[in-house]
Amino acid sequence: MSLSENLAAFLTESCYKRGDVLAIALPNLPEYAIALLGALRAGLAVTPVNPVYNAEEIGYQLGNSGANIVVTYPERSAVVEAGAERAVQGGLPLMLVGSGGGRLLGSRDLLEVARMEPPTVSHGKLVDQGNSAPSKQLALLPYSSGTTGIPKGVRLTHGNVTANNSQISHPSIKFVRDTTKEFQDVIPCVLPFFHIYGLTVTMLSYLKMGAKLVTLPRFEPESFLKVLKDYKTTILHVVPPLVQFMASHPGVTPAHLDTLRATVNGAASISVQDAERLLTKKKHVIVSGYGLTETSPAITSAHNTSTDLDTVGSPLSDTQIKIIDPQTGLIQDPNRPGEICCRGPQVMSGYHNNEEATSETLKGGWLHTGDVGYFKKGQLYIVERLKELIKVKGFQVAPVELEEILKGHPSVADVAVVGKPDRRSGELPVAFVVLNNAARVPTKSEIKEYLAARVAEYKRLDAVAFVQSIPKSSTGKILRRELRETLAEG
Ligand code: AMP
Repeated sequence: MSLSENLAAFLTESCYKRGDVLAIALPNLPEYAIALLGALRAGLAVTPVNPVYNAEEIGYQLGNSGANIVVTYPERSAVVEAGAERAVQGGLPLMLVGSGGGRLLGSRDLLEVARMEPPTVSHGKLVDQGNSAPSKQLALLPYSSGTTGIPKGVRLTHGNVTANNSQISHPSIKFVRDTTKEFQDVIPCVLPFFHIYGLTVTMLSYLKMGAKLVTLPRFEPESFLKVLKDYKTTILHVVPPLVQFMASHPGVTPAHLDTLRATVNGAASISVQDAERLLTKKKHVIVSGYGLTETSPAITSAHNTSTDLDTVGSPLSDTQIKIIDPQTGLIQDPNRPGEICCRGPQVMSGYHNNEEATSETLKGGWLHTGDVGYFKKGQLYIVERLKELIKVKGFQVAPVELEEILKGHPSVADVAVVGKPDRRSGELPVAFVVLNNAARVPTKSEIKEYLAARVAEYKRLDAVAFVQSIPKSSTGKILRRELRETLAEG
């Protein structure tokens, strides 16, 4: 029996059931797949948590998602335990990957459990239930801030996830091929599994195809280069900073790229300049896909190998896209930039326990992406983001989350956070701060440090500007575009 099947039987035996939520706070490790597939098989939903989050960030997600159990690893178990205690009085049961340090009473080692003889009765129950979950059943609960506000649980059903899996593996997407036959693709999993792109695209879809996955717990140039070359990588899923790394780092030579068939970019706009430089090292297919956590995640993909480098391709099968005028909400000529709206089986069922945000985003059955784009010859091009979301190296940073923390500083009267374009990271958060009349005027560094002590590293401020007031609309909405226009690329 497989390890995930054993884990599923153990979870069932331990009285976890459909409707429960298992949180995974792990870096990319092979055990991630065991935890994920085991939980799904037992009927639980999985909420993937960024393992570098601090206790407060973890506590928020565990509490908001209603997590019942957490899988983590010894290095972070104390922080996760503190987060769990914030979420639920008395904390939550932990299962650890690797032993030696679980401080929680009753914590179990995941592999030990998965290697145990499965409890016969519970396993029998699972077999009776059959292999496939009802399509409307919740499968994944990743967190995204969507178009506005703080991070929200995105309810992705088994139907959403399996639909998107089939859509991205469609034979018309030429760089993907049937790997179950004579050839096995090799995929380095460097994009974090806690993000939907890493989780469903690089892990689930290639596991299904029978590819070989090589997990990298974090991006380190040396180990990344070693994986490229020693494991004979064939397809590489990346975000723009990785394209830049491969294009410009002298350590990346044609020999490292020898077996590479395709580089597939997502999560943010590729730099054509970087892509062209990479092509001079090795001629291969470089394409982009586009999507959101809310769409499991893919909406579009390059379907053949000879497209412009800056298009995100055409809609996936069974996916409809319309371009609307963001002011009037009316459908408009798709060849002119407007807001991208999408409909298809991969669109989330809604935000977790958040009717208001759900109805704001899913209007009339169409998901409003908050992105601006247009079509040219059937190919979609992304122009800009209408929504307030900031993306740092492909990671989501919700301005409202940072603003709420900064408002807790004793000298801050008002604040707005926006993204500043950055060559290396795509964007970096910058805070515009209005000071109050507190006796002591803080320095910009103090403001930065105040935030840095309270958030994961990639959410830290790049700069602080002291201003007299924050520009706002008559309804009190921060005029973020106005602030963004004052910032030059770094
Ligand atoms: P996330 O939910 O973290 O995947 O973020 C989704 C957002 O990332 C989208 O709404 C876009 O703003 C951005 N995004 C995703 N893919 C691309 C792409 N290929 N090009 C430009 N922006 C992208």
